[in-house]
Amino acid sequence: MSHPFTTERPLRVAVIGSGPSGVYAAEALIKQTALPAEVDVFDRLPTPYGLVRYGVAPDHLTIKSVTRGFEKTFSDPRVRFLGNVEFGKDLTHHDLKAHYDAIMYTVGASGDRRLGIAGEDLGGSMSATEFVAWYNGHPDAAAREMVLSASGVAVVGVGNVALDVSRILLKTVGELQASDIAPHALEALANSPVKDVWILGRRGAAQAKFTTKELREFGELSEADAVVKPQEVAVDEASEAAISDNVVKKNLEVLRDFSSRTPEGKPRRIHLRFLVSPVEILGDEDGHVSGLKVERNTLDDSGNAVGTGETEVLPVQMVLRSVGYRGVALPGVPFDDRRGVIPNTEGRVEGRTGEYTSGWIKRGPSGVIGTNRKDATDTVAHLIADAGTLPVAEQASRADVDALLKERGVDVYTFADWQALDTHEQAQGQAQGRPRAKVVHKHEMLGHRQK
Ligand code: NAP
Repeated sequence: MSHPFTTERPLRVAVIGSGPSGVYAAEALIKQTALPAEVDVFDRLPTPYGLVRYGVAPDHLTIKSVTRGFEKTFSDPRVRFLGNVEFGKDLTHHDLKAHYDAIMYTVGASGDRRLGIAGEDLGGSMSATEFVAWYNGHPDAAAREMVLSASGVAVVGVGNVALDVSRILLKTVGELQASDIAPHALEALANSPVKDVWILGRRGAAQAKFTTKELREFGELSEADAVVKPQEVAVDEASEAAISDNVVKKNLEVLRDFSSRTPEGKPRRIHLRFLVSPVEILGDEDGHVSGLKVERNTLDDSGNAVGTGETEVLPVQMVLRSVGYRGVALPGVPFDDRRGVIPNTEGRVEGRTGEYTSGWIKRGPSGVIGTNRKDATDTVAHLIADAGTLPVAEQASRADVDALLKERGVDVYTFADWQALDTHEQAQGQAQGRPRAKVVHKHEMLGHRQK
């Protein structure tokens, strides 16, 4: 289809959110050869990379090496990073329509889901999302007081996030030193009295969502034994033969290996439990978690958990619900509240022309980082196919956007500024024998600029 874009007046796209799906969208936009394109990637934080910096576990440094590819994208002259610019506040939907031919929403899923049981608001009960944001040094969470006085912790849910938070709670300071965990979290965890962590799956081991590599890490912790009840990971021969999924097969192998081990008497334990649902978080007179009542389940024919009425109380003082992330609505953008996503058809925002979405806010919180590359490329292909019908923006130049942000007093943080902060964090870390020491407060980040 013919389109109006030229090298002098390229297609101008605003990408909202600089996490993996946003950077992959920018990459796909400059890699396509159908038309010249220019991309501005906005983030409300000064730092780029979203969940890679603030979600991926601090001890999974190899996963974070995707940022090398992201740096390449931001080093392309057609792509800019505009950090510390909040959509809906510093720039509205109306502003973006005036300055860009297309908008791509890639804001991820920063909210969390609740259990809907009594006691969820007691002190010491929180979402894994909050805990992850705290130990990864997210500016919104860095100032939060995190009391780590629990000897017993329950983690509800059996996805990879549940494994991440449990592992971080159980690692020694020596083990955590090698990670890029936020300095305040390293200090707090060094003094944590935690002894037992229970990971709780409401269905069977064969229905767990975690992956085998992550599960195996519990067999390698220096100060924690993995404890599994053989009867909770038993699968009858017929059901076992019916399992076609390789990850499930391997997970069962690892869990059975754990269940057959005699604990080595390490000071900490990780208990992997299945077929149990939390029914009530119990509290003491100070309004703090004092236990978690769980009910044993069986599975019905469709594989759903059904309560048996048999309960037990786990001696925990902290409960982390790790039952999935949830998208948050953006001002002036359609939102499907039931699914927690921007309603869309293959990335085209429903009822809007020239507006697109990609990543977790498009399809929900599932998949690994690489999943977002294909997802973003698919949406970009639709955007390019629509190029002839896009509402061409009138004030379409970088200078126009920069002038507007300046007029509003927005302190834009550029990619070169981020690189100065990145160098500083790595140098600080290396001085302490660590890969990185994160700067966690926004005002401090803003103090590090390109010279
Ligand atoms: P997830 O994989 O969707 O797991 C959520 C878990 O919560 C499931 O076990 C689910 O059980 C359980 N759950 C939901 N509602 C519950 C309730 N009311 N009571 C008890 N349990 C409940 O989500 P996630 O762990 O947040 O991970 C999000 C995505 O990020 C996943 O795709 C994950 O693989 C990815 N991730 C990857 C890595 C990595 O690669 N290392 C690390 C972290 C995250 P049911 O199955 O019964 O619903």
